[in-house]
Amino acid sequence: MRLDAKIPAGPLAQKWDRHRFETKLVNPANKRKFSVIVVGTGLAGASASASLAELGYEVKTFCIHDSPRRAHSIAAQGGINAAKNYPNDGDSIWRLFYDTVKGGDFRAREANVYRLAQVSNAIIDQCTAQGIPFAREYGGLLANRSFGGAQLSRTFYARGQTGQQLLLGAYSAMMRQAAAGKVQLFPRREMIDLVVVNGQARGIVARNLLTGEIERHAGHAVLLCTGGYGNVYFLSTNAKACNVTATYRAYKRGALFANPCFTQIHPTCIPVHGAYQSKLTLMSESLRNDGRVWVPKTAGDKRAPTDIPEAERDYFLERKYPSFGNLVPRDVASRNSKEQCDQGKGVGETGLAVYLDFADAIQRDGRATIAKKYGNLFQMYEKITGDDPYRTPMMIYPAVHYTMGGLWVDYNLMSTVDGLFVLGEANFSDHGANRLGASALMQGLADGYFVIPATIGGYLAGTRFDAVTTGHAGFADAERQVDERTRKLLAIPGKRTVDDFHRQLGLTMWNYCGMSRTNEGLEKARALIRELRAEFWQNVRVPGSAADLNQSLEKAGRVADFMEFAELLVVDALARQESCGGHFNEAFQTDENEARRDDQNFCHVAAWEYTGDGRDPNLHKEPLSFENVQLTQRSYK
Ligand SMILES: Cc1cc2nc3c(=O)[nH]c(=O)nc-3n(C[C@H](O)[C@H](O)[C@H](O)COP(=O)(O)OP(=O)(O)OC[C@H]3O[C@@H](n4cnc5c(N)ncnc54)[C@H](O)[C@@H]3O)c2cc1C
Repeated sequence: MRLDAKIPAGPLAQKWDRHRFETKLVNPANKRKFSVIVVGTGLAGASASASLAELGYEVKTFCIHDSPRRAHSIAAQGGINAAKNYPNDGDSIWRLFYDTVKGGDFRAREANVYRLAQVSNAIIDQCTAQGIPFAREYGGLLANRSFGGAQLSRTFYARGQTGQQLLLGAYSAMMRQAAAGKVQLFPRREMIDLVVVNGQARGIVARNLLTGEIERHAGHAVLLCTGGYGNVYFLSTNAKACNVTATYRAYKRGALFANPCFTQIHPTCIPVHGAYQSKLTLMSESLRNDGRVWVPKTAGDKRAPTDIPEAERDYFLERKYPSFGNLVPRDVASRNSKEQCDQGKGVGETGLAVYLDFADAIQRDGRATIAKKYGNLFQMYEKITGDDPYRTPMMIYPAVHYTMGGLWVDYNLMSTVDGLFVLGEANFSDHGANRLGASALMQGLADGYFVIPATIGGYLAGTRFDAVTTGHAGFADAERQVDERTRKLLAIPGKRTVDDFHRQLGLTMWNYCGMSRTNEGLEKARALIRELRAEFWQNVRVPGSAADLNQSLEKAGRVADFMEFAELLVVDALARQESCGGHFNEAFQTDENEARRDDQNFCHVAAWEYTGDGRDPNLHKEPLSFENVQLTQRSYK
């Protein structure tokens, strides 16, 4: 299989315009003849549904939740990037492009990232027009703050609730189309298989989570906007319902999975505090605008933070990276925090935490200013930990947060299955080996509002479609497989709960394929995952029946997919014998413990092809060529 990214010819800055001009259009009167299935209602799915319906396509939209507004996007706190340069501090499309490529440790496609930076400004215009209450300066212009990996302020925000506000905008736009009859909404439906007919994605099989009924839905194209797979680690900052099922089942139907080992560990999360915890909480990166990260200089120092004098504190990020200070990218900040804790300088009861201190900022700007910027985050922290961050530093530790890997897509966001498009966190496309803060919302909305409306037309206008209904054998076959699997899960006379298996899988992933990896550890993880998977199918207990609301069954299906997918993630990590961004293999580091890439051998996207259960997947490589930026060792000093 040859991976053709379909990157348009011509100078970087003109590729997107040129591509849109050269892409076939669907006549407005013909658009209503095409039906598009959108799975997911986060920022990517809701914006795509709204935009495609507005164009005239017939859209069917699915989500797991009771309301589309519960998609995980609602949790996004800090902000969304755009190259408006309102603060006049030197930003440009080029700089946003460059920062993103560099932040991703030169493992993303130049053309995609440039388009993302170009489209970023249109997103802000669109969202402002929708009425998103972005923070404003005194003069009325939208306000900006800084995020990691950038030396200027380009992050637009709505207090610490940016995702919620943006999702309400996209949701409103989608519901307008639902009211107009152009979007048909299917909440509480879980896509459990993709239906491929003659090489084309022509529909999905979904389970009605309330009644247990299996449904078939046909269309001319399928869009997966189903988010990331961070919950393969069990403990993460992701919503509990985030899963890999839709993308993994599509992988089993022929879509290649790209760079699964590129996972992001976010440096500022509330540390794990007990064995029975099921969720971790993010403290937004925006806090690093004013919060200073430090540990005691002496290992084992257990004094209260306020009793440790200034001279005995190590502001290690400011010391090591004077240019970027506390705003180094996430992978760099996380590894450094871990390093301090490994040296015994971690704080709190477990020693697995560092301080994020606002004392200087409060003294400088006043409590009211800090409260205005971060009030809801401070409140959230206090509610969870019982500590008041206005008085005592927050304690933070890295946690799994985002997944850069995802289904492989070309420049049109189409996977290796014709007619199967993948948007938002579910695809692999724009962030390389490490995503910069505030760039996920930007990508999800770029994909949904601007990219897919242009590219899907090219596919629909240029493709011959046979008449395919839900009566087609492809649907019957997919449904039969779904039924068999469900029956098998319910029939296991096991003793352990689904969560128990999931927790053990997550711990294995975190211990051997987390912030720091070794070949030995990865091999061990692979063996442990296989063992656990075998036990899962013998010893899991799934109570209840398939003909009803059954959350254990829902979880069991998702965890069964995580059990298989985890091995793919580890296989990818083993194949990438270099360090880059969030993938840190201890054998490949510089003298200063930074990730050491191997551009000679690994400057490619690793895209994996499913070859059958129990068989090793096939690796396909898409070489990455950098014509506009120079590959360098990243430095944030
Ligand atoms: C705590 C937190 C804070 C964040 N803050 C920021 C930030 O400030 N800025 C930023 O840029 N990024 C941030 N991110 C990242 C960002 O929020 C996500 O990457 C982004 O929202 C993902 O959007 P999405 O539309 O791709 O997917 P999601 O919002 O995850 O939506 C997925 C959708 O798919 C549906 N779904 C999933 N599987 C199925 C299935 N099998 N069948 C049917 N439906 C399915 C779900 O119901 C849901 O509707 C944050 C992430 C976290 C965890």
